[in-house]
Amino acid sequence: MTAAPARILETQALTARYGHVQALSAADIHVCAGELVAVLGPNGAGKSTLLRAILGLASTTGTASFHGTPLPRQDPVAVSSRGVVLVPEGRGIFGPMTVSENLQLGAYRLRSDKAEYERRLTRVLALFPRLGERLSQTAGSMSGGEQQMLAIGRALMSDPKILLLDEPSLGLAPRVIAEIMEKLALLRDEGLPILLVEQKAPAALKLAQRAYVLVLGRIVACLDPRDLSSHDDLAKYYFH
Ligand code: ATP
Repeated sequence: MTAAPARILETQALTARYGHVQALSAADIHVCAGELVAVLGPNGAGKSTLLRAILGLASTTGTASFHGTPLPRQDPVAVSSRGVVLVPEGRGIFGPMTVSENLQLGAYRLRSDKAEYERRLTRVLALFPRLGERLSQTAGSMSGGEQQMLAIGRALMSDPKILLLDEPSLGLAPRVIAEIMEKLALLRDEGLPILLVEQKAPAALKLAQRAYVLVLGRIVACLDPRDLSSHDDLAKYYFH
């Protein structure tokens, strides 16, 4: 009998509220080694809130654990030090700074370890050669797709142990979305677990091992994207 894969990230009864608004209700999800897991759901379903709750940034009950140990609350630096790194919705890059400076910021904890910095930079530029051609360009002058690549590249510069992405497809053309998703699949295949929050279900389902569906703050389904009937189930949740 083969052992079940190790759970890298796991939430148990994770609940989050903003004042009186309960935006997330008792969510149980997990990401195993080698997996890319999607969280899908319509506008306002609570997808970003789930990520904020995992990072300890929302008012929560329940737990979010990484390698079996609860993640700290209200201490984003401690969470990212453990290798749990978010690529936020809207990318969060610094527009007036150059591509190179944005990438340096991602590796700020390295201080003077130049060899390790170069190793990480080489990896990022191999994944996104277009960033290498634009190292001295201001980030804000790049296209939306290039900015999304930079946001992912900057996260990779911190050498994450798991990557959390909040709607990386936002505002991008289908061809660019496909390119970004292809890169995420490559990272997953290199051994980086990924939790991908997406409103655009078809793009995420193409590469996910498992997809949770979030509606009105509740996980209403856990789908196997290889199972064709799961795609019909998904439509039901989006267009109910
Ligand atoms: P989208 O796809 O539009 O980004 P989402 O699925 O990520 O949506 P959330 O942003 O997590 O959804 O929002 C979930 C619910 O919580 C929504 O009803 C939203 O209005 C509410 N909400 C989010 N942030 C706050 C806040 N800071 N204060 C009060 N309510 C909030």
